[in-house]
Amino acid sequence: MEGDMAKDAADKPVVGTDLGGTKILAGVVNESGKIVGMAKRATRAHEGVEQVVARIAKTILEAVSDAKLDRSDIAAACVVAPGPSNPDHGIVWSAPNLPGWEEVHLPDLLKARLDMPVFLENDVNLGTFGEFVLGAGKGYRDLVGIFVGTGIGGGLVLDGRLRQGFRYSAAEIGHMVILADGPVCGCGKRGCAEALASRTAIERDIWAGIRAGRESLIPEIMKREKREQIPSGALAEAYRGGDPLVTEVLARAQFYLGILVATCVNLIDPEAVILGGGVVEALGEEFLEPVRRVAYQYFMNKRDAKSVQIVRARLGDNAALLGAAMFARQKVSSK
Ligand SMILES: [Zn+2]
Repeated sequence: MEGDMAKDAADKPVVGTDLGGTKILAGVVNESGKIVGMAKRATRAHEGVEQVVARIAKTILEAVSDAKLDRSDIAAACVVAPGPSNPDHGIVWSAPNLPGWEEVHLPDLLKARLDMPVFLENDVNLGTFGEFVLGAGKGYRDLVGIFVGTGIGGGLVLDGRLRQGFRYSAAEIGHMVILADGPVCGCGKRGCAEALASRTAIERDIWAGIRAGRESLIPEIMKREKREQIPSGALAEAYRGGDPLVTEVLARAQFYLGILVATCVNLIDPEAVILGGGVVEALGEEFLEPVRRVAYQYFMNKRDAKSVQIVRARLGDNAALLGAAMFARQKVSSK
């Protein structure tokens, strides 16, 4: 009986939902992992928690009708947590981009409106899980996800399951200290990977070089783009244009990312390490090659080193949404 129910749930469509400071995005994903319906609404966070919850429910139902389905066709939904949370108890502790969100029992509030199981999990974990089920990690059992953007986030899948950790804080890969006494990180400590290889760190080092009189294409690109922060696209343009300062700063980031990858491999020995996020996506394969080279050098066990795949994420912007949908499916089909 239970087996039959589990099979039913695995065959039914699921919904992944991304809750951001400006927009809510919901996608219905079918049994073969394809997005078959989407809906988007403004978050309007200033209207308060109740209103935002109502809008999330509405967005989910709109995505369901966009897929030409009924809510009874949906096995479950999962929302990407907008901040620190307890996924098992379904509590969002706080949300940096959503004023007034404190200890919100989001899945319960949505369940009451939607009459379907609703889950919660953090974005990088879901991004990693999405890659595991549908992307670059398909077919593996153990993998590490590292996402390089404004910060560095990580996720861990072991034996086919997302590892959340005892206090739901596993895979804080960006805050592993890889250069004690290194530059100060956003978390207040020194020498975290994030303080050495995130876009924020790369940008800091590029501006320091420019202030010290180094030549670079960056100031001109920034003037043209009318931007204050260096977007990953501008980094890519300067890198491909042979900008010596950008190349040098990126080489440093690549070196530390290589050490970070190897450190994860030395701990877990996974089949694959998947690198994603804005920086990796914009700079592409040529950015990854030096990271790989350093990583392999720092593997403790060098036997068959290259059978550990160090690859780019494939799901791009939809990774967390697809991961949320796949996570909802695993939750309802494995009981
Ligand atoms: Zn840190």
